[in-house]
Amino acid sequence: MINDIIVHETVPVVDLDGRPLSPCTLEKAQQNLNDGLAIWHEGVLRLNYRPLAYRRIYHRVRRRDGLTCGWCGEPGSTLEHVLPICWGGRTSLDNCVVACRACNHSRNNALPSAFVAWTGVRPTHPVILGILRHEAKALAAAEASLRSRPLSTCISKEEAQIWVAYHQGDIERIRPSVTPIRPASRYRATSEPFGQVFIP
Ligand SMILES: [Zn+2]
Repeated sequence: MINDIIVHETVPVVDLDGRPLSPCTLEKAQQNLNDGLAIWHEGVLRLNYRPLAYRRIYHRVRRRDGLTCGWCGEPGSTLEHVLPICWGGRTSLDNCVVACRACNHSRNNALPSAFVAWTGVRPTHPVILGILRHEAKALAAAEASLRSRPLSTCISKEEAQIWVAYHQGDIERIRPSVTPIRPASRYRATSEPFGQVFIP
């Protein structure tokens, strides 16, 4: 196990396909192991998911949507999951849009219909509209997918953590059980680019 090795400041990290990622601290590595998100193999932390695929999707969504928030039309550059990850939403072109920080942060894990009800935003993005129109169906499909797909299909740490929590029957701890009636906070929209970086 990890405790048996000589303690270096950082340890090498690879993804599920063996491709190198940024090294991480021993503490982070141990946390990943404890959470079931990685295995330890010959001195290397091997993640059970594929964060490099996340970057690819982010860039494809950016190319499609430009720098315009799918919710409010203000400038934005964060990757937004229309069905939140904790509800089984995937990091995919048909569940992600570009969003401004204000919309992304203030929505938190609320469902799209709740966010529209809070804020009165009138999204025009086809991905958001498609999910809003059939939200209950999309939600059921997302949960069924979370139940049946393996951990290796996750492409971010958050997705992998949700997968583990769901399969350990612990999802209610993470997911809001009662839809709040208003957002926790509302930041001002800003056109300042927001870099999405991978932290193992
Ligand atoms: Zn917005």
